[in-house]
Amino acid sequence: MKVYFDNAATTAIDLEVFEAMKPYMLEHFGNPSSIHSHGRQVRTAIERSRKKVADLLNAAPAEVFFTSGGTEADNTALRCTVNDKGIKHVISSKIEHHAVLHTVEQLEKDGVKVSYVNLDENGVVDYDHLESLLKKEPNSLVSLMHANNEIGNLLDLERVGDMCEEHNAVFHSDTVQSMAHYVHDMSRLKLDFAVGSAHKFHGPKGVGFLYINHKNKIHPFIHGGAQERNMRGGTENVYGIVGLAKAMEIAYAEMESHRKHIEGLKTHMIEKLKASIDGIAFNGVSDDLDKSLYTVLNVCLPPNDDNDMLLFNLDIAGISASGGSACSSGSSIGSHVLAELNRDQNRGAIRFSFSKYNTLEEVDYAVEKLAELYQPETTSA
Ligand code: PLP
Repeated sequence: MKVYFDNAATTAIDLEVFEAMKPYMLEHFGNPSSIHSHGRQVRTAIERSRKKVADLLNAAPAEVFFTSGGTEADNTALRCTVNDKGIKHVISSKIEHHAVLHTVEQLEKDGVKVSYVNLDENGVVDYDHLESLLKKEPNSLVSLMHANNEIGNLLDLERVGDMCEEHNAVFHSDTVQSMAHYVHDMSRLKLDFAVGSAHKFHGPKGVGFLYINHKNKIHPFIHGGAQERNMRGGTENVYGIVGLAKAMEIAYAEMESHRKHIEGLKTHMIEKLKASIDGIAFNGVSDDLDKSLYTVLNVCLPPNDDNDMLLFNLDIAGISASGGSACSSGSSIGSHVLAELNRDQNRGAIRFSFSKYNTLEEVDYAVEKLAELYQPETTSA
């Protein structure tokens, strides 16, 4: 049996998405910047896609900029805000994705002051600390992710948006993991910047978008041609953009049924794991359905001599998941997210992440294989 439980890393493309992209690979190959009919036809497809994405976000088409993915969108939002809005202070967290964390570190090297908001032992943002940071230094840039890609913790976007508004701060949220899994109503959320990446919701890889609230005027990040209304030079990834919009349309249309199905898988896995492995726990708040991304379950396994081989052993059993053992021996680079949590470093960690294509049988199979690795005679503690 082959089981794919690494959907937070990337998802399988939906066949309908692929079919929507195909004509733009084979027939409609014109350059959208060309003014002849071949070009115009393709330009229309891009603008139709932009309108589709904007409508789903309850935003204006002029607020949506296509990029090469989440990383570029995060970089653009952070760098351009600092450069163009004269921001001198950035507030972020230590458990952001590297697309944000490494950019923030780079900004710090360039002279920007950086504060990291306190987190509790489960990686939950301390909102009072955030408020005190904002009070001390208004006009900051806040960059906090909506859903953590490793442990699934969710941020209260509305609460942070209100705080940012009160303290005149710019609010960027890395929404890569939650985009098209939840409704983001930009007319209501007080977000200045949000991000999407198509391959996290059954679209193609290498394409994403940056939502920029119309109040923010920033300069181009990639200099070149006049594409993306002069914001991002470079010939557009046309079939990627068409695929992104199609994938987002499907995700929104089927959101409730997918969510119900995936929550069922997650709940089933939590119950089965508790029944099969003594001392099982969960990292972050990933076993709390109200506080975590429904597609992610980060399992905290009992200490075991073979914990270093966990992913390898699951892989041999045909199960693809992802790890992140917080580096205890110093010999491996562990997860920077798990390292921030208050957890026993000798415990194993596995992130299972689900999609609409997973089944209960797959969950049963994964739990069975995992439990075999934790039979009492093989455990060391
Ligand atoms: N931000 C988060 C939270 C992610 O999970 C990812 C991808 O893993 C990214 C940013 C980067 O997105 P992309 O792969 O489209 O560059």
